[in-house]
Amino acid sequence: MHSGFCFGVRRAIDLARDAAYGEENIYTYGALIHNPEYVRELEAENIFVVDDINQLHNSTVIIRSHGIRKQDYELLKKQGNTIIDATCPYVKRTHDIIEKANKEGYPVYIFGDRNHPEVLGIESYGDERTRIFAPGEDPGEIEHAKLCIISQTTQKISQLKELACIVLPHVQELRVFNTICLATSQRQKASIDLAKDSDLMLIVGGKTSANTKMLAQLCSEFCQSIHIERARELSGKEFEGKKRIGIAAGASTPSEHIIEVYNKILKINGDSVYATGISEIPLFKEES
Ligand code: SF4
Repeated sequence: MHSGFCFGVRRAIDLARDAAYGEENIYTYGALIHNPEYVRELEAENIFVVDDINQLHNSTVIIRSHGIRKQDYELLKKQGNTIIDATCPYVKRTHDIIEKANKEGYPVYIFGDRNHPEVLGIESYGDERTRIFAPGEDPGEIEHAKLCIISQTTQKISQLKELACIVLPHVQELRVFNTICLATSQRQKASIDLAKDSDLMLIVGGKTSANTKMLAQLCSEFCQSIHIERARELSGKEFEGKKRIGIAAGASTPSEHIIEVYNKILKINGDSVYATGISEIPLFKEES
């Protein structure tokens, strides 16, 4: 399995911890990760979430791995904050691509969830021709002769291809950038492979995490799949009649939560020897 913190989330947390070391309080504009319990753990290290940008003045502010809207970045600077930009380099790449494509005369379609902060951030780097399409959404009439398509980093490649195939017959030139990050595609592929071989999949991660929800949806195409945040949500009933149980976890799921779920399965199974580290989980592959 490719699970546990992805590179971008791990980097953002490390940057926040480094910044918090010896400081009074530091703030993240929005939660650093989609995991309420971990957010509380970070609070104990003086790293606090602030959702209202108007409350951030003359402070040290971490920008999370999703990135933020260009105008919000400018506002944070204007309000006297010291900014530590932990925008994931894969997300930053999408900002650079959309800006460059617009400069070169290409309107840009963004494939992704229009309510997701990452997508709102990408959109803000585009011009007035930018449009966002959710999976399965029909782009309708296309009035441009040339176009560029990019994707939210956590989307499915098969659905990005679908959008490109729908658009292509209507334009003279189409540039499609595969901006789905490697961590996401590896994680999705590994989860699908495991789901194909399992009777039940447990997908561990925050209920609002886009990439965790996507994993749950993908796995459910192959076997029964349950999205949980913590082990305590499992009663044992889920395992009745199930022999092979797989675990997958989102990019912002702490290792401890994955180990806890694994140990709960062992406990329900009547085992008495538990895992103490992520590497002790059979076939577990943490991201490099
Ligand atoms: S899922 Fe990929 S793009 Fe998103 S933060 Fe992690 S490494 Fe970066």
